[in-house]
Amino acid sequence: DAMKAMRIDDTPLPKSKNLDVLSEFEKAKRKKHASFVVVGHVDAGKSTLMGRLLLDLGVVDQRTIQKYRKEAESIGKSSFALAWVLDQRSEERSRGVTIDIATNKFDTNSTSFTILDAPGHRDFIPNMIAGASQADFAILVVDATTGAFEAGLKGQTREHSLLLRSMGVSRIIVAINKLDTVGWSQERFEEISDQVSGFLSATGFQLKNVSYVPVSGLHGDNLINKSSDPAASWYSGNTLITELESSEPMTRALTKPLRMTISEVFRSSHSPVTISGRIDAGSLQAGDALLVQPSGEKAYIKSLELDSEPVDWGVAGQNVVLHLSNIDPIHVRVGDIICDPKEPIANIDTFAVKVLAFDILMPMQVDVHRGRLHAAGQIVEIPALLDKVKGTVLKKKPKIIKPASVARILVKMSNKVPLEVGQRVVLRSGGQTVAAGLLE
Ligand code: GDP
Repeated sequence: DAMKAMRIDDTPLPKSKNLDVLSEFEKAKRKKHASFVVVGHVDAGKSTLMGRLLLDLGVVDQRTIQKYRKEAESIGKSSFALAWVLDQRSEERSRGVTIDIATNKFDTNSTSFTILDAPGHRDFIPNMIAGASQADFAILVVDATTGAFEAGLKGQTREHSLLLRSMGVSRIIVAINKLDTVGWSQERFEEISDQVSGFLSATGFQLKNVSYVPVSGLHGDNLINKSSDPAASWYSGNTLITELESSEPMTRALTKPLRMTISEVFRSSHSPVTISGRIDAGSLQAGDALLVQPSGEKAYIKSLELDSEPVDWGVAGQNVVLHLSNIDPIHVRVGDIICDPKEPIANIDTFAVKVLAFDILMPMQVDVHRGRLHAAGQIVEIPALLDKVKGTVLKKKPKIIKPASVARILVKMSNKVPLEVGQRVVLRSGGQTVAAGLLE
């Protein structure tokens, strides 16, 4: 038929090896994969800390860092050299902020890590949502400098922690940073640890999943090596890298139906439609038929890659690159969902969600974020105010919901989008996060 003949790519369908992917995965016993986000107030030292960690791990060489130091000095911002290890695009450098979730990878003996960098600037919360939705755990960086921690707690430290919690991240490593600026004061470290744990437990985190490490990102103290500063000798706990290695990836939904959110679409030497993203649930293999939602178009996996190596299959938790065939690129966009045509995700326009309110909620326009998807919607009804702990109904059809309350709300989207029960969404309005929660 005419439509088929017009397809850009009508090559023969790829052949499947019909592997039992789950037993292949068991046999392969690959290195543990773990992804994390780095959050915290702007200027807390997130980029510097991660840059230093990568430098000390040998992921970046001295020559590169020297080059960055020279460039940084030439624009009078020498302290940014370490931060630049993470963000390597010039427009970001000249503004001195990190945009987008630049992903960086590094390996230790036991684990292959992906850093989903989440910068602290106000406007960048959507990136953080995308990062947190893929993260196994988070590093919360707080600035120990006198006054700075207190400002951060009023600012983004609070919003970021609430977001992490609502995105289902349960493990947090708190890096209490810049301890060099307070003479490695144990008292200051303990004061901040106490305040952060009070705040995190009120936010709903279990304190057994939270740990604290005193660090100096700038000087590299307690990242990989223990601080050699005598003033820091009181600390006998783990270094940051030990805490990272002891963090278990979340249990993966290996046996669930396939779901993968597209984070990039590009043209490659393998295919005019190559996509990358994390497999959120299920598994896939070369030759598989896929359904792309919301377009509802079918595609096939011609071949795939994991860590830049060709592989035959992929499972939940892995970030993979898929070379697709038999689909027109116009049907494939960032934020779309890839699924199994036999167990597809539906496109819906109305859904109920149990949210934690960050701000006052009432019937209003909202932007709905799920991973990289964001689309316009509207809170059309508030069926119930709920008990924060038990989830029981406290009040039916309240007119408004106050900040820090839990409620069931009904959202109507302007267009149909692929969403399903169990997914986490964030609602924003006027550039602010107003609520976040779980689809019911
Ligand atoms: P971000 O906005 O959280 O990514 O913060 P940056 O990494 O850009 O750091 C903000 C500023 O704090 C920069 O001037 C850094 O040089 C400085 N800084 C970061 N870490 C430390 C530290 O451990 N000690 C000191 N003294 N300064 C630091």
